[in-house]
Amino acid sequence: MKIKVDIELCTSVATCVEVAPGTFELDDEGIAVIKDPKGDAEDTILQAAKSCPVNAIIITDDNGKQIYPEE
Ligand code: SF4
Repeated sequence: MKIKVDIELCTSVATCVEVAPGTFELDDEGIAVIKDPKGDAEDTILQAAKSCPVNAIIITDDNGKQIYPEE
């Protein structure tokens, strides 16, 4: 599973950090960054992506197929 944050979309709401604090953190500018792609269970990371109000977190599987947001 691969995680990407679209920094153009991220509005620093930080719900992702609340849901998956092992995986996401905010940088100095308040933009979410991935501190550890395996910092939380995959379910939790997916939950964090779903919690993002602007769908800035993009999850793909190991083959590059997008899991979330659903295409
Ligand atoms: S929830 Fe979305 S908008 Fe908020 S900090 Fe995380 S990636 Fe950015």
